[in-house]
Amino acid sequence: MGRVVFIGAGPGEADLITVRGRQRLAQADVVLFDALTDPALREAAPQAQWLDVGKRGFGHATGQGAINALLVEQALAHGCVVRLKGGDPSVFGRLEEEIASLLAHGIAFEVVPGVTAALAAAAHTARPLTRRGSGRSVSLTTAMTHLGQLHATRSADTEVFYMAGQQLPELAARLLEAGWPAEAPASVVSRAGWPDAQATTHRLADLAQAAAVHAGRPAVVTVGAGAASVVPARTTNTPEFPESPSPAATDD
Ligand code: SAH
Repeated sequence: MGRVVFIGAGPGEADLITVRGRQRLAQADVVLFDALTDPALREAAPQAQWLDVGKRGFGHATGQGAINALLVEQALAHGCVVRLKGGDPSVFGRLEEEIASLLAHGIAFEVVPGVTAALAAAAHTARPLTRRGSGRSVSLTTAMTHLGQLHATRSADTEVFYMAGQQLPELAARLLEAGWPAEAPASVVSRAGWPDAQATTHRLADLAQAAAVHAGRPAVVTVGAGAASVVPARTTNTPEFPESPSPAATDD
């Protein structure tokens, strides 16, 4: 009987995987991979058999049972099976179901973390998710319930919504109902971590405008403290109250 290594592939290009993840991949006999993982990662495990288990669409249970069964079957037949997941395996990755299947069969496993999409989006926009004083909590939320309904509340200073890209107008409406102000900053990043990443920023009330740019692309929506742009710090040699307006002054 073999063992299974769950590896977070990171949110985009192959070099966003961790060093440990790449090392474990190199030892794989079989790799079960998701749709959002970079095909270039195959170069890290040319010896392995690569099986595409990517599911398309949102909120569908279809296929997960088959993936669980395939994972067990492969682990019983091989030495090292890698389960490669986009981003981090522990964030909206159905990891709990796959672990439960392995436990039921007494199969050993390990989880190697990855960079989740929310973090790649924050890096892409240079908008830190936490802010000293104003952003003390971050929530990672899926906008979709398992019944395919949209659910959104106000639970943290910064909220990052996954799987909401197709329902931006509804998401904005629910967040306004939940008490977020119309002026709250919102940032949408699609394909964060890839060379063609796109980012747009909005007032929450105008979030629906993002749909045109991000249509058909995996996207995360950040709302609240962590969606605001960073304001330039005053430099020490800039007088706080200049005696006369400087022609070179910029509006910060
Ligand atoms: N385990 C993944 C999330 C899987 S759920 C992670 O940790 O990132 C799939 C959702 O993740 C997508 O609907 C989208 O909301 C988000 N997502 C995945 N990759 C993304 C990317 N490169 N840029 C923006 N959002 C992404």
